Amino acid sequence: MQGFSHPLIEQAQALLHKYYGYSSFRSGQVPLIGQILQGQDTLGIMPTGGGKSICYQVPALLFQGLTLVISPLISLMKDQVDGLQRLGIAATYVNSSLSFPEVKERLQKAAQGWYKLIYVAPERLESPSFRTLLQTLPIAQVAVDEAHCVSQWGHDFRPSYGAIAPMIAELPYRPVVSAFTATATTEVTHDIIRLLGLRQVQPYITGFNRENLTFSVLRGENKRDFIFRYLSDHLDESGIIYGSTRKEVDQLADFLSRKGFSVAPYHAGLSDEERNRNQEMFLYDDVKVMVASNAFGMGIDKSNVRFVIHHNMPKNMEAYYQEAGRAGRDGEPSACILLFSPQDILVQKFLIEQSPMSLERKSYEYKKLQAMIDYCYTPQCLRHYILRYFGEKASGHCDDCSNCLDDRESVDVTIEAQKIFSCVKRMGERFGTSMVASVLKGSKSKKVMNQGFDKLSTYNIMSEYKEKEIVDLINLFCAEGYLVMTEGQYPVLQVAPRAMPVLRGQEKVYQKVQKRQAQKKESDP
Ligand code: ADP
Repeated sequence: MQGFSHPLIEQAQALLHKYYGYSSFRSGQVPLIGQILQGQDTLGIMPTGGGKSICYQVPALLFQGLTLVISPLISLMKDQVDGLQRLGIAATYVNSSLSFPEVKERLQKAAQGWYKLIYVAPERLESPSFRTLLQTLPIAQVAVDEAHCVSQWGHDFRPSYGAIAPMIAELPYRPVVSAFTATATTEVTHDIIRLLGLRQVQPYITGFNRENLTFSVLRGENKRDFIFRYLSDHLDESGIIYGSTRKEVDQLADFLSRKGFSVAPYHAGLSDEERNRNQEMFLYDDVKVMVASNAFGMGIDKSNVRFVIHHNMPKNMEAYYQEAGRAGRDGEPSACILLFSPQDILVQKFLIEQSPMSLERKSYEYKKLQAMIDYCYTPQCLRHYILRYFGEKASGHCDDCSNCLDDRESVDVTIEAQKIFSCVKRMGERFGTSMVASVLKGSKSKKVMNQGFDKLSTYNIMSEYKEKEIVDLINLFCAEGYLVMTEGQYPVLQVAPRAMPVLRGQEKVYQKVQKRQAQKKESDP
């Protein structure tokens, strides 16, 4: 039991089997449940589908008193509670869909010990009279679901989460507090601990690896052709295709349905009725493929989604992994494919720039965007890149992502790397990718001439390359950590310490290229 000798953990295992029918906990669940059972505040960081609910539900069954679950998913509360009741677990919920007498009745029953779990919406906690009622309940655990909602850095900030800590402070004695989220950035983690008032807590990051998912990044594909071919080869499978704008979703859904595929669109521009209808059809397999904006998916628990294709790069790794993670919830092999084009970067930068966020927030979003861009360019194992991003220790190969399976040839690009790094340095580390590429290519554009860059020793030293090839190399070197792209709307390239051994000729750099290209490069003088 991985260091948890608490005798209650064995009882927990028995309850897991009795109520849920599962034979064992997932490895990440054990330490979290162990901590909660020992009365220790807990912050569990797990991906969507990782099995957070059981981490507070099983302790709830063992505790003498009641577990108060704070959940922002009001529309799902009834389903969640119905699900627990079907398993034979005494649970109820309180939210704005109920009348005042109904709320009162449920709380009275809770005070009499009828329930093990009671789900409440965070907005309820803002009402002083409701908080007074809570003080009469034997609350043993407060479980905060989607805990990142307390943080302004999180993607779904909910001001009413600010009422959780005062509510806990007003209780006659302090229960154990467990918090759960799928967001692992440092800023959000610190906020959760501080704003929920968690005591002596070590964030526990776990379970981000989804063995049954395979990851691919495809660059330079004709996206429509690819999707057409993929759907043709997977006609019986259920899948989601994410597009970045409503227009794109509509056009793609239209194109695919004209080609005879079973698809439906989903985005915020459709009427509620249409959205619900499309969602239902997808859930019940009457439609195979949902072409959707990022508005689709929150709380969707369709188990047999066999593929998630991103038509565009999303804004950050959190968004990507949450959306891609909707594939394969049943544990069966499923594909997560990202179709990347450099245009996607411009779109995401534009979205950050024109949003009303503070400058500090924008720079934070740019930082997260850069990690997403690096994912699209890295030649390393994609699965391990994801795991490292979410704070897990990972190195090596998964042997099933598109990079690990990439059998293209590795070409030595050390000379190119040295030329590019020197050029970035000679230009004073004050310019972005396209300007550096123009100088290396020997462009006679006004911008280059006005700066006098045609006098640099690195001017025109990659004239045999297309500018796009130089840009691709620069992006590769960024993803590999040799170059750094600063944050902001006009990012500039800088040379990272990692590039020094390459510049000194002590280390080599490689790029994967198609065989044909490799032969061409090798035969170049
Ligand atoms: P999350 O809240 O983290 O998104 P859930 O709690 O909904 O995830 O769990 C995802 C799925 O995994 C559910 O169907 C759940 O029943 C299942 N699950 C959780 N723990 C286990 C386990 N120990 N063994 C088998 N299945 C599990």
